[in-house]
Amino acid sequence: MNETRCHICGNSDFEERKVEYIYRRNGNYLVVRDVPCEVCLRCGERYYAGTTLLEIERRFKAIYEQHNKPKTAIQVPVEVFA
Ligand SMILES: [Zn+2]
Repeated sequence: MNETRCHICGNSDFEERKVEYIYRRNGNYLVVRDVPCEVCLRCGERYYAGTTLLEIERRFKAIYEQHNKPKTAIQVPVEVFA
C-alpha cells in the first residue's frame, strides 16, 4: 500500500484540479492559469508535481530574463491594510 496523506491534516482524499498559480520572486509576479495539482479534500492544501513547479520557474525566467512575451498581462491594484 502506498497511501499518500496530506502533511497538513493527515487526510488521504485528494482530487486533481487545475488552479491559478501565482509565482513571485524579487517583487516580480507571474500568474499561471490551469496549473494541474492535487487538492486535499479536507483542508484544501495544494500539491504540485516537481516538474510542474520547474516549468513555472522556466516560464518566469523566459519572461523576465529573456523577455519572452507572455500570453496576456493584467494590472493588479495594490492596497495597504491600515
Ligand atoms: Zn489536508
